[in-house]
Amino acid sequence: MTVEVKSIKVICPTCRKEKGIEIPVFLVNEAADGVLKVQIPQGACCPEHSFMAFVDKKFVVRGYQNADIEFKLGGQKERVVADKKDEGLKDFSVTDMVNTIGPDICAVILRGVLVGIPVLFLDTFDLYERVAKTVMLLRDMESDDLVITGEKITRDDLKDKKVRRNNALIVVPLYKAIMRSPFQEGLNTRFESDLLNEATQLPDRTSQIVFLRKEMVKISKIIDEFIKFLKGTDKLYEEDIPAYTREKFNYKLDHKNIDVIKQIIEFKHDKKLAQKIISKSLDKIRTDLW
Ligand SMILES: [Zn+2]
Repeated sequence: MTVEVKSIKVICPTCRKEKGIEIPVFLVNEAADGVLKVQIPQGACCPEHSFMAFVDKKFVVRGYQNADIEFKLGGQKERVVADKKDEGLKDFSVTDMVNTIGPDICAVILRGVLVGIPVLFLDTFDLYERVAKTVMLLRDMESDDLVITGEKITRDDLKDKKVRRNNALIVVPLYKAIMRSPFQEGLNTRFESDLLNEATQLPDRTSQIVFLRKEMVKISKIIDEFIKFLKGTDKLYEEDIPAYTREKFNYKLDHKNIDVIKQIIEFKHDKKLAQKIISKSLDKIRTDLW
């Protein structure tokens, strides 16, 4: 099967190295809002960095995003894909998913799970059923406390009105791309990247799944508590969030990851409540103006 591709020029946002990368034409043509988000893995453009490139309808890179997280895939050793061919749908770990789909895209998938939107995976030709295996991985992660809608779709399904209308995240695993996303550009998935990074240090699929499920249930419960708290207060300083989670829930949230709380409340629950979370410096400017 041949897929028509076009070459685009990407520049590593960290070290400025340039490289030509081939992108399937249909992915760009069918992307929502005319922007395809592609993961450029470490080694594809430069030897050290992994980043996301936003490609527009004219096959020009409109922008980049690089997570400030170094992904070290440790723990479970990756085996060559060919060895896994006969091992069934359950033989695909979080490490395999990160390697196949790309760390930044996997982080967006976790965000999709946390806000409760459907995560659809476009199936493209693959001998090793990695799309079905990804769906199976998410199914196994699901529990009573963590509802996950993960489904495999075909290219024909993309034309389906229902798929077009709903707020789904559409991922193309084998091309490391996001075709459609309901998230705004300022999405910060550093929290989810940290979780994935930790998960991949664990030795096997089951412990990785258990870890991710536990952590996602935990943060969801904490966010529910934040919502209750915000309902009874005028404002909450961003800077106070880590101390608050530590004291109230004995939960250590990196100060660089506090966006997850505000962004999830804003996306999934209540925009007005999310706006009560403000930074101290912004509040000072406001006060000074008054
Ligand atoms: Zn680089």
